[in-house]
Parts: sequence; structure tokens; C-alpha cells
Amino acid sequence: MKKLAITQWGEPLQLLDAETPAPQGREVLMKTQACGVCHSDVHVWEGYFDLGSKGKMRMADRGMKLPFTLGHEIVATVAALGPEASGVAVGQSYIVYPWIGCGTCAACASGDELMCLQARSLGLRCDGGYADHVLVPDAKYLVPYDGLSRDVACTYACSGITAYSALKKIGTRKESDWLCIIGCGGLGIGAIRIAKAISPARILAVDVSDARLDLAKAAGADAVLNSTKADIVSQIQAQTGGGPHATIDFVGSGETFALAVDTARRGGQIVIVGLFGGSTTLAPLAITTKLLRIEGSYVGTLQDLKDLVALAQTGKLPPVATIAMPYERATEALNALKQGTGGEGRAVLQFS
Ligand code: NAD
Ligand code: ZN
Repeated sequence: MKKLAITQWGEPLQLLDAETPAPQGREVLMKTQACGVCHSDVHVWEGYFDLGSKGKMRMADRGMKLPFTLGHEIVATVAALGPEASGVAVGQSYIVYPWIGCGTCAACASGDELMCLQARSLGLRCDGGYADHVLVPDAKYLVPYDGLSRDVACTYACSGITAYSALKKIGTRKESDWLCIIGCGGLGIGAIRIAKAISPARILAVDVSDARLDLAKAAGADAVLNSTKADIVSQIQAQTGGGPHATIDFVGSGETFALAVDTARRGGQIVIVGLFGGSTTLAPLAITTKLLRIEGSYVGTLQDLKDLVALAQTGKLPPVATIAMPYERATEALNALKQGTGGEGRAVLQFS
């Protein structure tokens, strides 16, 4: 098999030959068709997450060995089944749910694999979909996507369910409520589309790029604001009549977290999703006296993926824009995300 791997942190990915694994037990070997490129891939590729004043959380310190294959937004066909695998047939195409736990701890036993401390997430802990084959531990992680476009379907495995799960945390809200989306990239634009399908709330989109804000408007945002403008806090408060009722921060930097807290209305809710990192100084009083609820959100469950696919299959969810590119160009897609010069949609690597 061929895999496009990180061989040195932050350096161009290298195309390597590797032995195609033979599936054991309940494992399923998948032949990759498409794989979305996520900003999380950029963080892992660079070799660390930014903890601001607390330094860096390095992938090497977390046990990641090079070469490593990124890729967690995978659509693939079944190539071979382990002797105990069942329920899928060779040649069928599925979305691969990548957020896989160890399968044996108490969290996994209770069905809460996202809480597993020994996760086997594809493209983050185990080799992922920037390769022409990928090994999946069990057929239960394969989700059919009949009637949907393959390239859109793969984005549901991360950007889709991450946005969906964050939106579930703030509830459907009222028509008069304002939901603020900070960061209108792959995740934020997906969230605007999903929010429009499941919630009557009004949406204010915030980004540093006017081009991204144009995309946010096209996706259904009711208002947009560029956060590089002076007095952005008062602009957000004026637009939302006193501050958003809920904010989802798809950037997750010290700066955007502070913006979310500073602009929130009394009783407001903030969900942090982005992993840009950094740190900020906040007065705890702002949280207490505004009675804020602040919560983190991490990807989504297997059931979230099934529910999101079902929602898309009703036709209520307009497809996100995707840009197909040969998988050999993955480094280019990572650089574009890093520099904020990504095109008008999620890059999706193609395997022929
Ligand atoms: P992306 O690069 O497609 O989009 C990021 C967007 O944020 C861009 O539109 C950019 O212009 C905007 N932005 C950057 N700095 C900003 C700022 N200071 N203020 C406002 N907007 C700003 O990235 P993505 O794929 O949408 O991912 C976004 C983040 O979410 C990444 O850090 C990624 O690792 C993380 N992520 C988290 C989860 C999770 O489960 N928590 C899952 C997937 C991705
Ligand atoms: Zn992702």
C-alpha cells in the first residue's frame, strides 16, 4: 500500500510504500476513496498543540511515532474482512467513524468512547486516511451514506459531527436568540448550515477574513462581523441587542475565548471547539456575574454521525462545499489551512 506520512514534524509529507495489513479478528481493511483535510491535521503535522503560557503539548511526548499517517475524514470501500468481522461486504462504501476508544475500559463499556483515555482514533492515534488503505477495528464503525455525495459524506466524520455535537450542547434556541459562530472555516461553515436546518435562532458569524465571511453569508448567516475591526466587542453586542445568547468558538485561541466571554450576554452560553490554542487572562468575576455557562466540545459520537447522515438524507441540510484534489497534494492543502488561504470549501483528497 501507499501512505502519505509525516516523517519530520512540519515538513512536506512523504509518499511511502508499506505492507498492506491483513485484517485480524473483527478488523476490516478499507480501501480509501476520499479523505477530508482538517485543521487538526495541521496541528498534529506541526507536532504540537499550543498551550499558551503553559508551553506546548507535543505529539512526540504523547507517544506518537514517525512516520505517521494523518486523515480522519474518511470514505472507503471494504477491501477485506477479518475472520470474525461481519455485517459489511467487500466493495461497499462507507464513512469511517474515526473516534475509536480502546474498547475495554469502563468508558468504552458504557458506550462513551470519547471519554476513553487510551483512544485509538484514526489519523490521530493510529494511522489514518492519507493512505490508500486503512485498518478499522470493527465493522460497527462503518456508516452507510446512501444518497449523499461521497466527498461531502467524508466531512461528516469530523467537521460535520463536531459542529453537530457543539450545536446540540446549546439546544435549538428561540427565533429571537442570537447564536454567534466564531471562525468560519470547515467547522464553522458546516455549523451554520446545520444550525439553519435544526434551529430557528439567528446567526452572527465572526471571522478575521472577509472572504470567509462571504461564505458564511452564503451558508445562511444573518449577520457577519470582521473581528479585526476596532471596537468588535461593542459591534457584536450592538448587532445582537446586548450579546449573543450562545457562542460557539471554532477557533479556540486565547483571543477568541476572551472575545466570547467579553461579548456574552447575562446567562449566555459558550462552547469551545477550536484548538488554535494560546492563553488569555480573564477575570473570573465576568463569568460569575454574567452567570455564564462555558463548556468544551470534542468531535461527536458514532450515534451523532448516524443522526447527521440521517438529517442530510432528509434533504434539509445543504451540502458543504468541497474541493477535490489528488491525495499527493495533501501538503499543499495543509499549508493552505495553516496560512488561512484555503479555497472556498473543505479540501478532500482523492484516491483513484
Ligand atoms: P479552518 O482552518 O478551516 O478554519 C479556521 C477559521 O478560523 C478560518 O476561517 C480563519 O479565518 C478563522 N480564524 C482564525 N483566527 C481567527 C480569529 N482570531 N478570530 C476569528 N476567526 C479566526 O479550520 P477548521 O478545520 O474549521 O478547524 C478549526 C479548529 O477546530 C482547529 O483548531 C481544529 O483543530 C479544531 N477542531 C476541533 C475539533 C474538536 O472536536 N474540538 C474537531 C475538529 C477540529
Ligand atoms: Zn478534524
